[in-house]
Amino acid sequence: MIRTRPYDLIVIGAGAAGLWAAIQAARAASEPAAGRSPHRTSGLNVPAAAELGPTAASDTSHLRIAIIDRREQVAAKILMSGGTRCNLTHREVLPADYRGGNRHRIARVLRAHPASESLRVFTEELGVAVTQEPGGKIFPADNKATTVRDALLAAIDRAAVPILRGRCWCGLEAAPDTSAGPRAPRWRVLIRDDADRTLTPIETARVLVATGGCSFPESGSDGSGYAILRELGHAVVEPLPALTPFRLGGGFHAALSGIATPVRLELRVDGKIESTAEGPLLWTHTGVSGPAALDLSGPWARAHHERPKAEIRVLASFLPETSMESAEAGWLAGAAHNPARTIRAHLSSLPHRLSEALVRTAGADPVQPLAQTPRALRRAVIAHLVCFPLPVEGVLGFHKAEVTSGGVRLEEVDHGLESRILPGVHFAGEILHVDGRLGGFNFQWAWSSGTVAAHAAVARLLASAAE
Ligand SMILES: Cc1cc2nc3c(=O)[nH]c(=O)nc-3n(C[C@H](O)[C@H](O)[C@H](O)COP(=O)(O)OP(=O)(O)OC[C@H]3O[C@@H](n4cnc5c(N)ncnc54)[C@H](O)[C@@H]3O)c2cc1C
Repeated sequence: MIRTRPYDLIVIGAGAAGLWAAIQAARAASEPAAGRSPHRTSGLNVPAAAELGPTAASDTSHLRIAIIDRREQVAAKILMSGGTRCNLTHREVLPADYRGGNRHRIARVLRAHPASESLRVFTEELGVAVTQEPGGKIFPADNKATTVRDALLAAIDRAAVPILRGRCWCGLEAAPDTSAGPRAPRWRVLIRDDADRTLTPIETARVLVATGGCSFPESGSDGSGYAILRELGHAVVEPLPALTPFRLGGGFHAALSGIATPVRLELRVDGKIESTAEGPLLWTHTGVSGPAALDLSGPWARAHHERPKAEIRVLASFLPETSMESAEAGWLAGAAHNPARTIRAHLSSLPHRLSEALVRTAGADPVQPLAQTPRALRRAVIAHLVCFPLPVEGVLGFHKAEVTSGGVRLEEVDHGLESRILPGVHFAGEILHVDGRLGGFNFQWAWSSGTVAAHAAVARLLASAAE
């Protein structure tokens, strides 16, 4: 049932960012003014509620908040995340773990709500026990994404914030100027009921857009948020798939399908190293996947889209710790120690099928003794081992991408993630032009940006209430 009285805050999208933001907004709205902790809004240029006087304090518990989502089953991506284990954050989260927006702006959001604070909320307020893997990835202790989803929905229930499901956001209009006081509705959120296709305007003072990106459109995030915001005047950076496998040309990869090996990948654009990624690489029947490939796919897609004429190469080192020089020194030492030692034996630390393919592609025979390999051939083999050019033809599309690169520019929002173009409209999560690497960084962005946007929205509602 959609209320006819205006809301104070409509959150659009019940994914990670929207649910978290609604929880934070409801909590900020119900905290006694004196108890509202300034550190939670540190970095934001918004007044603490204590500075707002008794009118604001008495008004705080009455904020009318609702979430809308096009799907009946919300938070679909949380359920599919981390192989259904939900890698909800990382031990150490730095601005360098993200791409897209300006580093300083990302840093300010992360400082305002760091991973340690998200973990405190999960463990102390939402009752989610967590476990940390040796590399720093953090999961719910029972390894079930449903635990995270259920905890968020239970908190939404406790906060008595309704989720209006099966309602698709399809536009935003300025509400007629009623001049009716501090929390006067500024916006009409246009929603379509998916069941009967009727269009309903909902009036609200503030809007928080958390409609996600374009990846896995069946989850509900199909990029419609970007399209609406473009129409309303935002310069949305072209959405491109990120954290998605590479499609390779030629036949090299086909015989290697199923092999996983540690690599260091370099993205070179016109000869300059623009990005690197380290970790396991998984060969597939269409190309390469695995953490290293996924992490480099977004920068590759961005470079390819923005500089189509540039020479864009992805070079793989299958000996990530080894330079050309030290690989050659190792080869010569091996040959001196045992002149009959073959190339195959020398490369026995690599998966057999991979080393054979690399050596043969370089023009050598794997059973050739190290000592009898001419210098030019030796160097060709070593070059294949430490800077093998992957014949990248493209990246797999949004249906395989874990995240979207692109979205609303951070330059078009202020410190409270409020639009500079549409006053009263805030953003959180993947709708913003920020995408993280693999490892829990994208959910952390959802929690951090959701908190910043929600706290700013509430503080500004209360500030206007005090005027
Ligand atoms: C397979 C997979 C695995 C992943 N694993 C991890 C992981 O382990 N760790 C990690 O950090 N990140 C992971 N991610 C990324 C992470 O899920 C996203 O970055 C995160 O969910 C983004 O949150 P969001 O709230 O911005 O968007 P979403 O979670 O996409 O939520 C957006 C919501 O908005 C709704 N919506 C969209 N458009 C409209 C509209 N027009 N009207 C109404 N509602 C609308 C959608 O239905 C959806 O519920 C994974 C992603 C995928 C696809």
